[in-house]
Amino acid sequence: MPLEPVSTHCPYCALQCGQSLTPTPGERLPVTVAGRDFPTNKGGMCAKGWTSAEVLTVPDRLVSPQIRIGGELTDVSWDIALDHIADRLMTIRKDHGADAVAVFGGGGLTNEKAYALGKFARVALGTRFIDYNGRFCMSSAAAASNRTFGMDRGLGFPLADLAGADAVLILGSNVAVTMPPLVQHLAGVRSRGGLIYVDPRATATARLTSDGAGIHVANVPGTDMVVLLALLHIIIDEGLVDTEYIAARTNGWEAVVASVSRWWPERAEAVCGISATELTRVARTLAAASPSQGGAGAYILTGRGLEQSSQGTDAVSSAINLALALGLPGRRGSGYGPITGQGNGQGGREHGQKSDQLPGYSSITDPVRRAHVAKVWGVDPDSIPGPGVPAVELLSSLGAPDGPRALLVHGSNVVVSAPNADAVRESLAKLDLLVVCDVVPSETAVLADVILPVTQWAEEEGTMTNLEGRIIRRRQAATPPQGVRTELWILSELARRLSSESTFSDDAREVFAELAAASAGGIADYSGVTYARLDAGEQLHWPVPAADHPGTPHVFLESFNTPDGKARMIAVDHRGPADDVRAAAPVFLVTGRVLSQYQSGAQTRRVPELVAADPEPYVEIHPLLAERFGIADGNRVVLTSERGVITAAARLSTDIRTDTVFMPFHWAGEGSANRITSDATDPVSGMPEYKVCAVSIALEQEVMA
Ligand code: SF4
Repeated sequence: MPLEPVSTHCPYCALQCGQSLTPTPGERLPVTVAGRDFPTNKGGMCAKGWTSAEVLTVPDRLVSPQIRIGGELTDVSWDIALDHIADRLMTIRKDHGADAVAVFGGGGLTNEKAYALGKFARVALGTRFIDYNGRFCMSSAAAASNRTFGMDRGLGFPLADLAGADAVLILGSNVAVTMPPLVQHLAGVRSRGGLIYVDPRATATARLTSDGAGIHVANVPGTDMVVLLALLHIIIDEGLVDTEYIAARTNGWEAVVASVSRWWPERAEAVCGISATELTRVARTLAAASPSQGGAGAYILTGRGLEQSSQGTDAVSSAINLALALGLPGRRGSGYGPITGQGNGQGGREHGQKSDQLPGYSSITDPVRRAHVAKVWGVDPDSIPGPGVPAVELLSSLGAPDGPRALLVHGSNVVVSAPNADAVRESLAKLDLLVVCDVVPSETAVLADVILPVTQWAEEEGTMTNLEGRIIRRRQAATPPQGVRTELWILSELARRLSSESTFSDDAREVFAELAAASAGGIADYSGVTYARLDAGEQLHWPVPAADHPGTPHVFLESFNTPDGKARMIAVDHRGPADDVRAAAPVFLVTGRVLSQYQSGAQTRRVPELVAADPEPYVEIHPLLAERFGIADGNRVVLTSERGVITAAARLSTDIRTDTVFMPFHWAGEGSANRITSDATDPVSGMPEYKVCAVSIALEQEVMA
């Protein structure tokens, strides 16, 4: 490896902070990590980014394929492992049909891996059953954006644009904790008093609104949509709508007006817990910032707190409707966008690992797109299977009489990250074959029949697509441990053993070129992107439909991606969480992240500095609620939902509502929050309702007595 610094990006979240990795031969860690000036992070990183090199050398790094023999995972050669997998897959397919094999991908995989995985499922396996953990992360925002704008590009504008706005409304995203470097983009709006934050907890992001920097409103969990419907009601009532924009750029306005008419602020107050006066103040602040009212611009940004709901798609639609009423989307200096979570949450859903999509964000049922992709793959269009099912449905069908009997998992730790996780564990146990590719023995990997050790972040080449739709290069700076292979190589070897009709390259650059060709003419058109352009420093936001196209940092400036170019407004109404509080479960549980941990924690729980910062799960609880149940700070408390029982230490805090408790979801074991979260899903997106469920609380010693 060269010893010069290598420009790449952080392995974790969708901000994809620029990093510089310098190889350090002979040292404990193979690279040193420095922040790099990049538009999203401007040199900054959070603790996860600074410590990211630690994961390269964790003591339990997987370095050999393993097969379960006599109940024990046993080291074997690559040939034995791959021959065994191919043999088992062919037998299962012969006995039960192609759909007896399923694939589960991840939002952290590079674009190349996500593309190869989708192709592998449809071509080498011939199964329709592929989905990925991005379904848990972004699917409601994607579905709502698709149905209104005809396209989902995450943020349709560079993050740096936020600096010039007079107001930014953030719902359900604790960015100061999950993406600290993003906060610098809010400095301008805070200086103008325009940061508006909706969250049941007084989080670190809420504190950014203090001292006149903005407004924090702490709503009842599961009522973000009520807040948004009421804001639109007030804006209509007070004549603050951008009527010219509505007439020129939207359809469906009348139905939306009718739908919010019943959400007058006093009625909304009774449901969402925010006073009518405060709702009115928020509406006026946001409207005053919009260009039609003479403001410098306004943005509405949504996160998982709003989206991970059994009506998440409708909740996002209510945010989009509000943005459209104020004339924000498709206008420089204003807009709507979801804040993508996972590292390649955006690219991961564009290139074919989603159950209903082919590369280029193409519908798998569109005959034109099927024919195009089939030509690139060199297969008959009719041989490409139809749509599969979303992640929660897929996981619950595993091992069922008509469900898949084998599962290949790439980049996902489902027994910690999926909702109702104990039920997922039971489904995995019913399989005839579970194959997991991972870098560490995650809680899911240790259940596998075969584990394949793979390269990670600093050891591989590829591309990612960040939360702004910006395509970026991941570059190799470290030599992987001996015995470890790339997932591209694994897929290519398995495809050969399965006598796949189409070949699979193990070279990331070649795979990207094929991906770009397959995406040509699709919504997410990468056909003008090459490694050479990215390596020359071009900042390319998709679509990039030609080699001389400069990319599209701002989308929808002329028109939306709909047949008539207008946004399709969708009237929606609030229904409330599937799992509401009741006498037997009187408290809301909301879940989220802490700064030092990432998703299921498979990587970050192995980094000593991050573990020291947050060693274990906890239950954040208001002192008044704690008093009701006789709970003191540090007591072990038992949370019980319809799905299970977990235990963690109480952490008393006045930062949370008195009807709500909060738990981070990064841990396995007795304090694993997703063992009790709800697997009720949104009917449009299939996204599970992680963010709110009803629980009972008790002191552990009382339960044990
Ligand atoms: S985890 Fe996210 S915010 Fe933190 S350094 Fe990595 S990319 Fe940046």
